[in-house]
Amino acid sequence: MTYALVLNSGSSSIKFQLLDPGNSATDEPFASGLVEQIGESSGRFTLKHGGDKHVVEEEIPNHSVGLSRAFELMTEQGYGPSQVEITAVGHRVVHGGLLFSGPEILNDEIVEMIRDLIPLAPLHNPANVDGIEVARRILPDVPHVAVFDTGFFHSLPPAAALYALNHEVAVEHGIRRYGFHGTSHEYVSQRLPELLDKPADEINQITLHLGNGASCAAIRGGEAIDTSMGMTPLAGLVMGTRTGDIDPGIIFHLARNADMSIDEIDTLMNKKSGVKGFAGVNDFRELRRMIDDGDRDAWAAYSIYIHQLRRYIGSYMITLGNVDAITFTAGVGENASFVRADALAELEMYGIRIDPERNELPNDGARLISTDDSRIKVFVIPTNEELAIARYATELAEQKTG
Ligand code: ADP
Repeated sequence: MTYALVLNSGSSSIKFQLLDPGNSATDEPFASGLVEQIGESSGRFTLKHGGDKHVVEEEIPNHSVGLSRAFELMTEQGYGPSQVEITAVGHRVVHGGLLFSGPEILNDEIVEMIRDLIPLAPLHNPANVDGIEVARRILPDVPHVAVFDTGFFHSLPPAAALYALNHEVAVEHGIRRYGFHGTSHEYVSQRLPELLDKPADEINQITLHLGNGASCAAIRGGEAIDTSMGMTPLAGLVMGTRTGDIDPGIIFHLARNADMSIDEIDTLMNKKSGVKGFAGVNDFRELRRMIDDGDRDAWAAYSIYIHQLRRYIGSYMITLGNVDAITFTAGVGENASFVRADALAELEMYGIRIDPERNELPNDGARLISTDDSRIKVFVIPTNEELAIARYATELAEQKTG
């Protein structure tokens, strides 16, 4: 059996999976792991394989040590990189800027280009570059591939991609809508031709990726024509801890009147707002319990969340004109049937009717949740970004070694 290794390096963590690219979205990976609290006084490795979980706590000074040690621990468990055949390594890279419209085989030049994009994603790209460098050092003979979160939105038409900010300033600083979660939107949208039995280039669809981060996309004939995240992942829908769209004037107001620095406002809007900023929790299972217990703040958070989601769905219906399907995916989208029901409630006059029984089916694969007479079909399609990255990486590696 051959596997792809998929790495997702964050500022203080590395997530990885060793998986068969032929898996389906809901298959468990062969092995997976999480390296946490890199750079802190106590770090943690969690490895999973065949139903077993192995946890080791020790200091992890940097990404290089984190990844090398994770490989050692995997080897002790019998599934290290030299004990299984790894044919490709896929790296999730958050920002591809205007430079990358699709996955790329990594070489020194491409790594430098990703490094040059750090100003656009100062919180994410440095960790991505670290992860790439360490993994290329440890596995020098395997092709490495970068898969960009922004890639799918590279083709956004100018009207959707450009902001009405002073054009000179915007061009000088690379300010435009890049969009994120592209791998997920593309992955679920590509299931539609089979599910609708219709050619991809004739399908208009809206994809709703509702996880802790959340975004939506309008897709015409397989090409994204609009998306809710912007130059950064802060824009658009209300999220677990992020504001989504707010009046940018609020930032000036806080800077002038609340004695807050730019970094404090950044943290406020990215980590202390959204559902959590109202309800104190960002997990929708807890939020639901709080609403059922009559918690007013939880209800307020949920109402704002749904209001904003419906606003985007309505706007994308107009943008697309004719819509064939709406798809829910990611943690909230796949599991929270109440969110799906409320997001699309009372839209019969627009051709959308959810079937309450289908909406409650367990989350074990792609499924239709609209009624048979609903003109617009509504689906839940489990996303699997790691699998999508594994497939891209394997495909490009095969082309390279071809
Ligand atoms: P991310 O990848 O952005 O961290 P996920 O797509 O994994 O997020 O989604 C995580 C979120 O999904 C959780 O914070 C929680 O709100 C929601 N979620 C997960 N499982 C359930 C469930 N069974 N019911 C309701 N919400 C759920």
